[in-house]
Amino acid sequence: MEPTLRRYLGTLQSAGVRRIPRGRAAGTAAPPAAPVADRQLRERQTLAAAAARAPGLSAPPQPPTAEAGRAGAGSDGGSRTTDPAATLAAIAEAVRACTACPLCETRHHTVPGEGDPRAAIVFVGEGPGADEDRTGRPFVGKAGKLLDDIITKGMRRRREQVYICNVVKCRPPDNRVPTPTEVAACSGFLEAQLQALAPRAICALGATAAHHLLGNELPMGRLRGQVHAWRGIPVVATYHPAYLLRKPEAKRDAWADIQRLMALADAP
Ligand code: SF4
Repeated sequence: MEPTLRRYLGTLQSAGVRRIPRGRAAGTAAPPAAPVADRQLRERQTLAAAAARAPGLSAPPQPPTAEAGRAGAGSDGGSRTTDPAATLAAIAEAVRACTACPLCETRHHTVPGEGDPRAAIVFVGEGPGADEDRTGRPFVGKAGKLLDDIITKGMRRRREQVYICNVVKCRPPDNRVPTPTEVAACSGFLEAQLQALAPRAICALGATAAHHLLGNELPMGRLRGQVHAWRGIPVVATYHPAYLLRKPEAKRDAWADIQRLMALADAP
């Protein structure tokens, strides 16, 4: 096993996380994201192998593989770890040390995510922007202010009651969309976070998050208005707050999505 991964697993284990077998109980449906996760696992292994072969470079610290992510919770993503706060802290520590993709070279701070470790709702965005890179916190710029308004004024919740994170944990330069290689390199962190959190519902903010979680490339217009699933956890896709700042007329649709999200989270 790769030494950094072994250290990461040791951190999880010392946090009380037990390893969960990869398989599911007989008769249950296969997790929808598994083929994507397996492909990403192979991509990460390829990246690690390439880094190890590079002259003068040792293999960089790697984000948790899909297998390590499954060590954080049940394989259906629906059973939370006994101590999600400790697991999330261990993941954040691994993120801070991560140099698995080129985004580590231009970041000022990593942005693992923040919120209630036992949140019913997790918001997943694309990646940190300039304000997030400066502060190390997700969604704190103008788009973050709009997300705050959606949470506090629309959902009547406090920001601290939900969990907020991104697909990639380091800022892509000039706020560009992260490349497939960067997303693949970082995906184990998000996977481990979602498995530790095991929320009632996930909200994918924008196409990058939706495509990554759902394993497709459909336009947002086709992803909205229905309930998807990530490993058995309901997923609602809606517009990224940055898009809503540019297209305020889309807020009506976004509000309908948020109402659907709340209904899922509050369902008995
Ligand atoms: S974006 Fe993710 S994979 Fe890339 S360096 Fe940052 S934490 Fe590591």
